[in-house]
Formats: sequence, structure tokens, C-alpha cells
Amino acid sequence: MRHRLTVLVLIGLVLLVAAGGATAEETPRVIVLGFDGVDDVLTRKWMEEGHLPNLSRLAKMGSYRALDVTNPAQSPVSWAAFATGTNPGKTGIFDFLKRPPGTYDAQMGLAKKTMSSEFTPQAGMRWVLRAAPAAVVAIVVLLLAWIFARRKPAWFPVGLALGLLLGIGTGFLFQKVHIPLPWFEKFTPISAIPDRLPTAVNLRQGPTFWQTLGKSGVRCTVVEAPTSFPAESADGGRVLSGLGVPDIGGTFGLYFVISNDPRVPDKTEMGAIIRREDPDENGLVKTWVRGPENFLLPVSRQSELRGRIRTMKDRLKLSLGNEKRDVYKRLCERERELYPSIPVEIQLMPGDEPKAVIRVQGQEQTIALDGWSDFFTFEFELNELLKPSGIARFHLKQCDEKTYTVILGQINWNPKRIPPNVPITSPREWAAELSDDEALGYFDTLGWACVTGALKDEMMSEAAFLAHTNLLWDARVRKTRHLLAKDDWDCFVSVLTETDRVQHMMWRLIDEKSPRYDAKLAEKFGDSILEFYQKMDGLVGEVMDEYLDENTVLFVCSDHGFQSFRRGVNLNTWLVRNGLMKLKEQGGALSLEDLFDPDVKMFKNVDWSGTKAYSMGLGKIYINLKGREPGGIVEPGDYARICEEIRTGLMQLKDDDGTQVVKAIYLRDEIYAGNQVENAEDLILGFNAGYRVGWQTTLGGAPPATIEDNTQKWSGDHCSFDPSIVKGIVFCSRPISVDDPNIMDFGPTILSLMGVAKNPGMDGKVILEAGR
Ligand SMILES: [Zn+2]
Repeated sequence: MRHRLTVLVLIGLVLLVAAGGATAEETPRVIVLGFDGVDDVLTRKWMEEGHLPNLSRLAKMGSYRALDVTNPAQSPVSWAAFATGTNPGKTGIFDFLKRPPGTYDAQMGLAKKTMSSEFTPQAGMRWVLRAAPAAVVAIVVLLLAWIFARRKPAWFPVGLALGLLLGIGTGFLFQKVHIPLPWFEKFTPISAIPDRLPTAVNLRQGPTFWQTLGKSGVRCTVVEAPTSFPAESADGGRVLSGLGVPDIGGTFGLYFVISNDPRVPDKTEMGAIIRREDPDENGLVKTWVRGPENFLLPVSRQSELRGRIRTMKDRLKLSLGNEKRDVYKRLCERERELYPSIPVEIQLMPGDEPKAVIRVQGQEQTIALDGWSDFFTFEFELNELLKPSGIARFHLKQCDEKTYTVILGQINWNPKRIPPNVPITSPREWAAELSDDEALGYFDTLGWACVTGALKDEMMSEAAFLAHTNLLWDARVRKTRHLLAKDDWDCFVSVLTETDRVQHMMWRLIDEKSPRYDAKLAEKFGDSILEFYQKMDGLVGEVMDEYLDENTVLFVCSDHGFQSFRRGVNLNTWLVRNGLMKLKEQGGALSLEDLFDPDVKMFKNVDWSGTKAYSMGLGKIYINLKGREPGGIVEPGDYARICEEIRTGLMQLKDDDGTQVVKAIYLRDEIYAGNQVENAEDLILGFNAGYRVGWQTTLGGAPPATIEDNTQKWSGDHCSFDPSIVKGIVFCSRPISVDDPNIMDFGPTILSLMGVAKNPGMDGKVILEAGR
């Protein structure tokens, strides 16, 4: 009996211990902080020097490793692999730009613009609403005919016929014709909504790990998710799209320059929209900004207007004096027809403390020289019902007695008024909820909101660029902090991108060998990259102190590292010189803006009948393959031989000082596996330190020199560098059990931590020991 009791007590104790063990192994919460472009080598160096105390603390607590990233080491490619746990051969994201098979056209690599009827009323509903006025007309006429026919019955059939005819006529009018008159649109608003609205399709294939978690009931909050536009639904979770969200014009983000300074060029590589306006005698400048293309215009008219605008822009560059003014005026007229416009007034106040008062649609703000305004809202009007709303900030660059320059940053979609065809959040209303929250307010929604383009085009000072980048960073930190504190998540992912942007623009100030090194600027701004690494370190420390406990796992990661971009390699020029590409004539330079003009053809100077290979995008070569390319000449049987010929040739390419330019060249089948491989480029370049693909090559151009100095302020890069020299970082609060963690490993690891089965087809591995 006594013995039995002891056994029972023992069993009880065992059960208790087991229950205790079960508590310790409770599903943990996961936080991932992603910092775009944070480099392994710099991080290690600055940790050793004691600049990043919180990251050092995290490494000591768990692990720190260099992170293998995708090939190519580009943000869209790498973050897509992060999100899905698969290689680019499955995500289908290979570059910022892509060439759809069967064409020579460049397309955005992340999302595709399309017209969709998804967001407009159902066809049946539309028919009923449009048919209603017809029915009313028919009934009224019939009624009159009936009253009239009581006296003259013989006339009734005539009334009947008339009623039917007028009814059908009205129906036809309302069904087919949209009359852009306010009263008409108010009377029958359905006619103001077109059958289809422009929207986007995400080109990234495969589910994200937060979608898989959501299906298992894990609550995910994902902030600034890259390659997630349109925002995918996450079953009970919330997603705010990041990289990939366009500006209000559907582009990467075009900015405006309003100026009377003759030094401002007519066209810039990053596609600035130039407004040349002279102030009146009181220093008042009247100008206008444009919104999205008016897709309600007939397609042929849109195309015609685009053509005229292009011609006039080319003429503008060649003309002078009065003729230039005249061409500019006509250019503005055409632009205002193609794009809805909003008047802007700038009252210049030069003097000891120069400033400007800016007025837009009843809003007014004063900005000091070198300063940025708060957000202005811009309500463009396509018709009575369709009024896309944007937000943007002004910057006063220059304001003296003679000249002035005002910059307007890219116009973001207004988060408070996101139309259904631009789904930047899931659930859809989350964007407005976030923005209506007093702690957050308006925030940039554009995927690439940083004004790198304006600094690259030399339209802005370093100080102004950094001031704006700080605004962006602060807003993202505010958002991250605020959403973490809501405590309504099991898995939290936030990606902050300013670390990447600052390195792109400021690398020249930490590299004395950069063609754009400037000792004076370096003295002033040489610490800016370190400062952003320290800001990252600060946020990591804050999250560790507030949220890290034994039941929470923290990951800190990046999508790639960085290198100095000193020399540009013009791959098309190399192909021409080696008899692999034939030009009709030396081509004119293209700008980023041209990419968004569907009528501008890339490679218009290429003679395809003499071309075996061509380059486009960031360090990619395509074979002009028979049966695939529209003017293909390379027989499929010769494909492998031509690839090898290019590989051997480029591996021997030496710079003037004898440096080997290319580290490795990869064939797509060597590095990718999956059902998307056929959309990949044929050869993928991996340049050595200091060398990147040349600017005009990315847009398909072939300038005279094969290798030339990169004279741009955009001086740090990772695209087209061999992935082995641009590794990212991964920190974890728990020990990492492998030596070669990869960007694809996050999905499988987080799913395993949370006890959710891995998606079939995931290529990544689990990098934490089981049970830790
Ligand atoms: Zn980058």
C-alpha cells in the first residue's frame, strides 16, 4: 500500500516536471528587424571599434554570422527569397528590371501594371444602373403616349415606337458614352467609373512565410514588406507593402524641380520633371504639378500625347531663347492634357534669411533655405469621382535675388485615401487606420521614398538629402515602435531601408579612391554611414530591452552588403567591340523616365540581325536566341557555346591598370532551380570590388568606353558585384547552429520555431538548433 502511494507520488512528480517542461517550450514570439544593405565587413569593424554596443550584446547573447544572399545581391531578389524561403528560380524575381521572353522591352521586375475590372462595380450592376435612365425616359414617353392616345388612339403605336426608340437611345448613351460634365456624372455617377482601373500584379511567386503562419492562426504584423505589392492577405495578420509600391504616377518615384536657374538641365538621368518658371516682379512663382496619367482618355490619344511630349522634350534640349520658351509652353499644354494638374504658388523671400511661402489647394507653409516642408496633400481630379490623392514635401534649395530652385519630392499615395486599386496594405483599410493614428499621421507610402535620385542628379545638397533621409528613418522607427507596442502579434517583421540609401550616396566619402571623393565633404558628412549603423544599433537595443525575454526570439538581418562603385563597365560596349552586338548608330542616352513610357523602345539602335547577345538590367546578359527573341539569330544548338564564349572573354577583361574586372560569371541553370528559371537572364555577372555595371548598360545603352570612372554621387553599390563580396548580416538572440546561413533560411527557421510545417518547395534550411 505504502509502495503504491510512493509510485503515485512519483508519477505525479514526473507529470509536473513534464508540464513544467512544456511551459518552457511554449511557442515563442518572433521579431525580425531587417535593415536594407547592412554590410558584414563594416558591421564587424564597427562592432570591434565599440560603435555598435547593442549588436555586440546581441551577438554575445546568441550569434552573429555573415549572411549569404541571393545571386544577384539585389534587394528585390534577396527580400523575395527572404519572404518565401525559396531561390529566385521559384520567386521569379531576378532584377529590378526584366525582359519578358519574346520581347526586347524592359519592364519593372517587381510588379506589373495592368488594367483590372476587379475594383469597379460588376458588369451586371453597371448595366442596371446605366439602363435605369433609359427605362425612365421610355416610361415617361409611353405615359405621354398613353395620355395622348386616349383622345387619338390611332397615334398610340407611334408613341410606343417613339418611347422605345428614345429609351434605347438613352440607354446606349449611358452605356457607351461617358460625358465628362459634372452634372452628368452626379446624375449618373456610375458613368464616371470606367470599366477597368489601372492596378498592379505582384510578379513574386510563391507564398510568404507570414501567409503560411497566418493560415495556422499565428498573428503576423509585417511592416514595409518588400516585394509585397499589392499587399497579400495574411489571414488575420497585417501587411504594409514596402519596396515595390509606386508613386502616384505609377513610377519608381519621379521628383520635380521648379527653377529659373539656367544651370538646371532639361533632362536628368533619374527623370526629374523640370518646371522653368520666372518669378513676377513681386517674387511670386506660379507653376503646377502633375498627377497620374489620365487613363480615362482614349488609348490612342494617350499615346499621341506621349509622343508629342517626347518630341518637344528633345526639341527643348536643342533650342535656345524665345524658341525654347515657346517649345516649353507648348510642352506644358500637352502635359496638362495628359496629366491632371494642380496649381502651385511660391512666394520667394530672398534676403538675410531667405525663405519661401508655398501654397497648394488652400494649404500654406513657409520653408527656410535648405529646409523641408511638412507634407502637403495634392488632390488630382480625373473626373467627379476619381480624385487620386497624394502627399509630398517641398525643399527650398536656392533663393537669392536672381535665382531660385525649389524641389518637390516624389508624390506618394496619400495613406489616408488609398483607392482600392492601389492595395498597399492588407487588410485594405489598415493604411488609413495607421495614418489616422495620432502617433503616426501621414507617412511616405512609396517603396523607394528616399530622394537618392535628386542627389544623384546633383539637384540637392548632401545636407538636404540627409535631412530628408532622417525624416524617413524617424517615421519608420515610430511606426515600428508603435506597432510593436500594440502587443497583438506573434510574429513581427519590420524592414527599414535608409541604411541602404545612405550607403549608395555617401560611400564616396569613406573611400578616398572613389572618383567623387571630396575631402571637404568627407569632413562634414564622412560619418553619415556610421551614424545610420548606430541608429540601427539604437533601435535594436531598444527592442532588446523592451521585448526580449526567454520566450521571444529576435533576428536582425540585412539583404546584402556593400562595395565601392568606382568604375562602370559598359557590357553592351564590350559586346559590340567583341563582335557579339551590332549597332546601327551610336544610341542616345535613355533616362529612367523613358522606362515608364510604353512607347519608348529600348535598343532602337541595335541591328538584331548581327547581334548574338545584349545586356540590360543590373549586370545581366541575354542571348539573342532564335525562337525566343523576336529577332533572334543564335541557333539553340549554339546557345551553350556563345554563353561560354562570353564567359571566357569577360573573365579576361582587364582594367587599364591590369586589375581583373569580373570575379565570376554564372549561367542561369548553374544558380537557379524552379519553374521560373526560363524568365531569368542567360548570364549573370559577378564583378570584382570597385566595378559595377555601367549606368547606360542598365537601360540597354552602349556608350563609347568599355570601362569608365563612375563620376556620380551614387558611389556605393551591391548590384552586379559578386555575391561573395557583398554579404549581409544575421544576428539572433539564440545560437545559430550553421556556418553558412542564407537569406532563404528565415522562412523555414521561423516556421519551425513556431511549430508550423514548412511549405513544400522551400529551399532554405533551419539555422537554429531544435528546442533552443
Ligand atoms: Zn541598394
